[in-house]
Amino acid sequence: MAIDFVIPDDAKEVRARVRQWVQDECIPAEKRLADGEALDKVIADLRKKARAQGLWLPFIPTEHGGMGLGPLANALVQMELGQSHLGALSMNSQGPDDATMLTLLAHGTDYQKEKFLGPLFNGEKRICYSMTEKAAGADATGMQTSAVKDGKGNYVLNGEKWFSSSANVADIAVVMAKTNPEAPRHQQFSTFIVELPNPGYKILRNIPTMAVHSEVAEQMGAAHCEISIDNLVVPEENLLGGEGQGFAMG
Ligand SMILES: Cc1cc2nc3c(=O)[nH]c(=O)nc-3n(C[C@H](O)[C@H](O)[C@H](O)COP(=O)(O)OP(=O)(O)OC[C@H]3O[C@@H](n4cnc5c(N)ncnc54)[C@H](O)[C@@H]3O)c2cc1C
Repeated sequence: MAIDFVIPDDAKEVRARVRQWVQDECIPAEKRLADGEALDKVIADLRKKARAQGLWLPFIPTEHGGMGLGPLANALVQMELGQSHLGALSMNSQGPDDATMLTLLAHGTDYQKEKFLGPLFNGEKRICYSMTEKAAGADATGMQTSAVKDGKGNYVLNGEKWFSSSANVADIAVVMAKTNPEAPRHQQFSTFIVELPNPGYKILRNIPTMAVHSEVAEQMGAAHCEISIDNLVVPEENLLGGEGQGFAMG
């Protein structure tokens, strides 16, 4: 079967708009950071302008305030946004928020969507994803973090996580843990929505990587955190997508 490599006109058009946005607004705004202006202020100004132009949440359906782009157009948009350190943040399209928002949208209860997704879509909050552990990377079924019901309407989580990107700036963490060690391998894990900061979810450090590390770079996304999870209490209503569904959603 022949593969069609032609980029549709509407994807070309949105790519051109985003390219212009990045060149005209995001790259010049980087200088404000270099001059010592606060990141929050620079991002807030950019986001206000981006939203006014309809450049917001490219991967989220239009009925939720996004641009509703498919995978190809979104990939092209992300390529353009990657030209500036501020590109993805300007359109609230930074990882790991992007994929994690989609997970909540696809699997969240009405309560979870109303409480957590609204502020994420508005760019008021950040979210991170904690799956990987030191001994569970490419094969994430090695995860050892456990979640046990306490009989009082909560799960209690214990273990550790590794490389949780942007946990240092997140208001919410989506955490995977083992709820049933007896279940088939891929049905042992569940996913929990954790409000941060939380005494049971402690950031031990930002793991050094090949990225440029500075305080502002780590706020923008260059922090990949080691986390200790000690008696982390999560209300049962914060279980995402049902017990045993963690792996499928991840
Ligand atoms: C910058 C960065 C950001 C990240 N952000 C997040 C995040 O936000 N949340 C999160 O949960 N995780 C995150 N991760 C973790 C990421 O998901 C893991 O790094 C990834 O799953 C690989 O795991 P590992 O690093 O332990 O490598 P390993 O699993 O140790 O793999 C090392 C090497 O061995 C190879 N290998 C492994 N198993 C096999 C096999 N069976 N057969 C053949 N080859 C194999 C791999 O391909 C790789 O080349 C992040 C990682 C990085 C580097």
